[in-house]
Amino acid sequence: MKITEIETFVVDAGWRPWQFVAIRTDEGITGYGEISEPRNPYGAIGAIDDFKPVLIGRDPREVEAIYWLLYRLGRQSPGGLLAKAIAGIELALWDIKGKALDVPVYEFFGGKIRERQRLYWSHCGTYRARHHELMGTPPIDSYDAYTALGEEVVERGFTALKTNFVIPGTPPQGYGFGNGGGDPDQIVPVEILRAFDKQLAAFSKGVGPDFEIAIDLNFNYKGEAANKICKIAEQYRMLWVEIDMYEPDALRRIKDKATVPICSGECLYGLRDYRRYFEARSMDVAMIDIPWNGFARSRDIALVAESYEINVAPHNYYSHLSTHIALHLCACVPNIRIMEVDIDDVPWKDDLTGGTPLNYENGTLAIPEGPGWGINLDEDVARKHVWERGRGPGYLPVKR
Ligand SMILES: [Mg+2]
Repeated sequence: MKITEIETFVVDAGWRPWQFVAIRTDEGITGYGEISEPRNPYGAIGAIDDFKPVLIGRDPREVEAIYWLLYRLGRQSPGGLLAKAIAGIELALWDIKGKALDVPVYEFFGGKIRERQRLYWSHCGTYRARHHELMGTPPIDSYDAYTALGEEVVERGFTALKTNFVIPGTPPQGYGFGNGGGDPDQIVPVEILRAFDKQLAAFSKGVGPDFEIAIDLNFNYKGEAANKICKIAEQYRMLWVEIDMYEPDALRRIKDKATVPICSGECLYGLRDYRRYFEARSMDVAMIDIPWNGFARSRDIALVAESYEINVAPHNYYSHLSTHIALHLCACVPNIRIMEVDIDDVPWKDDLTGGTPLNYENGTLAIPEGPGWGINLDEDVARKHVWERGRGPGYLPVKR
């Protein structure tokens, strides 16, 4: 079998781009991968184009040989867009190999060790605050709206959610979501802390006692502010407080003072990054972005985390293809804390992968059974929703 063609797609997913790679073969099998780059969508795609000459004509089933070749080619520019391009390619190669041998990808990693995976509803309220008109959902115009949303999440079977810090209103005021809306000084004024408390209280009222809430602070706070926020969060039943920080010891200091679990890692790349955090005991839960690290390396990271008695959580705020890929990781590692999924989304999300909604039951999804990832990109739909070149990055900062 030989690789004959590589095509990429940058899809308009409302407020952020989703990128996909299709690798075609001379035996008619096409494998699909997803790439994680909301800020520089065509940069990651360009990196894939540059790799084409070393991929065309190769046997796509030699996944590790190709991965390490690309790794060596990119070794002097580690991480970043190049790593995301390599991950997208590696994911598509696993899909081809699974389809060629008619098995799910997790079969290459010893088979599945679970039948279903518990999920949390991510960006809960965050997307409604910003994009309710596009999604056709109620707005987040009051704290009562958070309570009503909490009730809805429970009614729809979920047992955990993750939110970001947004003060409700018309318009709502984002405070530290992504990397555009936060305070440049990474501090948290007292009145903002009070609003944060009100948001968690409103959600807690809606979801009731048998439920876990996570809050994602991204990179928006330094240690002092993060500790003040953790202190507020301690009053509630927290899944975790999520804090991104490129200094393992600084994160460890926050974790030592907090009694809420600390999750981190969605922007870390490779075992060399994660290992520093594991050795410093900086996080209770390690978030792993598979469309950045690739599948096999994500599994490596998860298993090294296991050796440090740390659970992992796939970072998955992408399409249903990524959700399937993340389920494959959950299938074949023994230390999953919980898995992320975006429930509120653009109306064409299901159409991108064949039109069938995912079958959520009691806030869980079944591990996929089909060959490869068990789901395919509908390329015609992807071509209908193109993220225009020159539109800029996704998640542009909200004016405050
Ligand atoms: Mg996060």
